[in-house]
Amino acid sequence: MKISRIEHLGIAVQSIDEVLPYFQDVLGLEVYKTEVVEDQKVKTAFLKVGEVKLELLEPTCPESTVQKFLDNGGRGIHHVAFKVEDGVSEALAMCDGKGIRLIDKAPRKGADGLHIAFLHPKSTCGILTELCEE
Ligand code: ZN
Repeated sequence: MKISRIEHLGIAVQSIDEVLPYFQDVLGLEVYKTEVVEDQKVKTAFLKVGEVKLELLEPTCPESTVQKFLDNGGRGIHHVAFKVEDGVSEALAMCDGKGIRLIDKAPRKGADGLHIAFLHPKSTCGILTELCEE
């Protein structure tokens, strides 16, 4: 697969409103978009750091995998998203062929207009990995 850059970092938070003063007033970053992703049971807020985005993830219900991450003591960086230039489907097929455990067998619609798929952290050095394309 051909990865061109880190597209975004997913950051798990219990409340976007509670963490915004840090990102906005201390780091001086601006939220350019908020979006609820029903599929993933999260509310998201996007901030730009140059070409890379930060995706704040707030669970919208107890069944959200982000809520489970927080309940298990997870905090901060939740996943790393790579932009793939040669297609998420192709990248998934290649990963599958190399024995990488896939969370998504096919690309689905993610936040901010992306097509995404997740690789399982058990196969990716503990880093929940998202592949995405526009
Ligand atoms: Zn993401």
